[in-house]
Amino acid sequence: MHIETNSAKVREARTYALELLLSEHVGDCEAPCRVICPASMNIPLMIRQIMGGQLSEALLTVKEHIPLPAVLGRICSAPCEKGCRRRKFDDPVGICLLKRHVADIDLASASPYVPACRAASGKKVAIAGSGPTGLSAAYFLRRNGHECTVFDKMPEPGGALRYEAPEETLPRSVLDDEIEIIRKLGVRFEMNTPICESFSLTDLTAKFDAVVIATGRMELQNENWCAGVATGARGVEVEKGVFATNLAGVYAGGDAVIPLRMAVRSVGNGRSIATAIDCFLANGGRPPAKRFNSRMGKLAHNDMDEFLKGAALSPHLIAGAADDGGYSVQEAVAEAARCLHCDCRDVESCKLRLYADEYGAKQATFKGEERGAFRRICEHEDIIYEPGKCIKCGLCVRITAEEGEALGLAFQGRGFSTQVGVPFGDSLADALTKSAARCAEACPTGALALLGTK
Ligand code: SF4
Ligand code: SF4
Ligand code: SF4
Repeated sequence: MHIETNSAKVREARTYALELLLSEHVGDCEAPCRVICPASMNIPLMIRQIMGGQLSEALLTVKEHIPLPAVLGRICSAPCEKGCRRRKFDDPVGICLLKRHVADIDLASASPYVPACRAASGKKVAIAGSGPTGLSAAYFLRRNGHECTVFDKMPEPGGALRYEAPEETLPRSVLDDEIEIIRKLGVRFEMNTPICESFSLTDLTAKFDAVVIATGRMELQNENWCAGVATGARGVEVEKGVFATNLAGVYAGGDAVIPLRMAVRSVGNGRSIATAIDCFLANGGRPPAKRFNSRMGKLAHNDMDEFLKGAALSPHLIAGAADDGGYSVQEAVAEAARCLHCDCRDVESCKLRLYADEYGAKQATFKGEERGAFRRICEHEDIIYEPGKCIKCGLCVRITAEEGEALGLAFQGRGFSTQVGVPFGDSLADALTKSAARCAEACPTGALALLGTK
């Protein structure tokens, strides 16, 4: 007998099966707020951590993606809030002030958090420009173990954040505090160093393993400095999403590439550049492709009612009552409680997402006219059940039988309309009296998921 497990035909059949599953899938892998955030911060996780009083964990979540949260908490135009699903009901969740709350509490503590750095890679990176793009790139590159030197013509780092943002909006002490953390990571700053006059790009590429051009647009007008780098009408030309220029090892981002008009975009660029350089320095490779992201699109049916289950119906707290315009602890918890938790609880471990990535499966291939309704069953204190994400594998049905549940779970209906549910319309709490955690762990998708802050 000859068995093929990975031939082109087998892979094609698997892709077909995956796309059929995805065509009827109802749920978002990542929440709309996170998808739209240029820094891709895990907003719903931060919110759950704030609700649970886990402020140190919330700070870690923020700092995985944003090196300057207290700064951005004061000046960001918050595109995430424009994409927040809660807007469809009343007003968005105050994501920006929540992030600021977490960051301010840390900065005011006796020892603000300084992330750990990976072991020294032995590689050196030069960063031209100390604005939000340069600072962000330096923060993430240093965390990845690379030696980083930031050059800037001005006496103090911060670029437009320091020399353009009004003091009443962004107190310089806040900027200084967050830059101090980047310094503590081990990033070196060479200030009063006009890069165009001090070094040619060739000097830098000879001395460093990679170079980041984050100078903003003005300095780029000195063409002598960046001779050899391809430029267009708007700025340095880079490969989309990778930020690599035409010269190997030279990357560019922020206003040097295109006027961004949004500091959070520059911060996001800095992180993407650091990821690309990390892969380049490791083995000349490229950064991983964007992950598959199931999207349920516009709300329909009674979707909003389902999302509102468990969310506070209180109105949006616009500005905090605290002296400086931030949220107090009580306000932060109250605002966080308004979140609809639009993300999937199994976003990192879901096998459907994993295989969709591996096989390049598309959700829209077999798209029907109207998608099914979103449902969220929150009757159990340990788990939630979202039937639109169930792939009918039957694992939970088997487990509840094995565990001797009186009710358990069962297949209901026939053909395409088959669903997994509790017999006799009883509640999930009564159905899963002892097997809830085992079912959630076995479920290959986020259909049955443990509650808690993940
Ligand atoms: S179950 Fe998987 S594919 Fe579906 S939304 Fe959750 S993570 Fe995404
Ligand atoms: S309701 Fe919460 S999870 Fe949903 S988009 Fe808004 S902040 Fe994000
Ligand atoms: S284990 Fe998850 S995917 Fe499988 S039948 Fe149960 S709920 Fe559906």
